Amino acid sequence: MSNDASVMVYIQQDSGKLAEVSLELVSKARELADKLGVGVSAALFGEKVAQEVARLASLGADTVYLYEQPQLKHYTPIPYTKLMIQVIADYKPQIVLYGATTTGRDLAPRVASYLKVGLTADCTDLQIGDHKQGEKEYKNILYQIRPAFGGNIIATIVCPEKKPQMSTVREGVMRMNIPDTSRKATIVKVPASLGSADFPSEIIDRVLEEKTVNLKGANIIVSGGFGVGSREKFQLIRDLAETIGAEVGASRAAVDAGFIGKDHQVGQTGTTVRPKLYIACGISGAIQHRAGMDGSARIIAINTDPEAPILSIAQYGIVGDLFDVIPRMIKAYKARV
Ligand SMILES: Cc1cc2nc3c(=O)[nH]c(=O)nc-3n(C[C@H](O)[C@H](O)[C@H](O)COP(=O)(O)OP(=O)(O)OC[C@H]3O[C@@H](n4cnc5c(N)ncnc54)[C@H](O)[C@@H]3O)c2cc1C
Repeated sequence: MSNDASVMVYIQQDSGKLAEVSLELVSKARELADKLGVGVSAALFGEKVAQEVARLASLGADTVYLYEQPQLKHYTPIPYTKLMIQVIADYKPQIVLYGATTTGRDLAPRVASYLKVGLTADCTDLQIGDHKQGEKEYKNILYQIRPAFGGNIIATIVCPEKKPQMSTVREGVMRMNIPDTSRKATIVKVPASLGSADFPSEIIDRVLEEKTVNLKGANIIVSGGFGVGSREKFQLIRDLAETIGAEVGASRAAVDAGFIGKDHQVGQTGTTVRPKLYIACGISGAIQHRAGMDGSARIIAINTDPEAPILSIAQYGIVGDLFDVIPRMIKAYKARV
């Protein structure tokens, strides 16, 4: 497979640990590259990160542009931006994808502004297609798809003139491929040299806060919405979750109202989840909420309003008061086990 005009992924790492979103993006890049008939490349910078090349290859990378230096153990903007610009200038990918993480949101706009190319943030889908603009027809360009205008429309954004086309994508939106350990990638050492002038800032101390909520890894999620009514009443959602061994999720309206912390928010500006079972309680099902949970294998929705949009995507819709339905669910479950 050719290295030219590849679909490139910026591989985010910290202390040698790769960000999950980067692995998801390598998988998506494979799909896009297969449609374009080009290779997948990965830009991997850090300290002692070469051992991760096999993992990137197993998910679909053909070429890994590698640069290792001890000061790159943690992300800092200036050296990483310099390396990324150099890799893009030297190897000319047609598409570059970044995770919509704090790091990706810092790095991608710096690169875009330097290269004077477009950048679409927080894409929820990426496709390849043609685009007509007046008399001009562009073949095989990147459709960068994301909710716009407060989620009232799903916009398809194109940047047909300038290359590379660049997007950020949130964690959990793209599916990770099943690793194929027989795949191999070519390592290309980036011919750069970073000197002390490239490291004007120094990390003196880092305080890491452990996440207590693991929505992404949960098989079952019980989520409460604004319909739950208060922080105190939210205990019923926690009770159901605890009974059935689920993680607790929430809509943004519930988070904004102070019923529960932001870490629990599911949706476009929260976490994207794909559990085996998602139980939505007192959630209307606004598009921004559905964007984060409509990939769930099974959805149960409890809502007093038979017209609530969430009921149209639920396999099991219960029209009723959650304060009546949930205690009965808990009782029925406990009676069976
Ligand atoms: C840019 C942007 C990003 C956003 N990102 C997110 C996001 O990441 N996640 C997210 O969730 N939202 C997000 N939103 C907000 C979203 O538009 C909705 O406002 C929000 O999802 C509504 O939450 P809700 O369904 O809990 O509340 P509501 O829409 O108020 O719905 C409450 C529901 O509870 C039902 N109900 C009331 N009482 C009961 C009862 N006793 N028993 C059963 N049902 C009852 C009602 O019938 C109603 O359907 C975003 C909005 C914007 C503009």
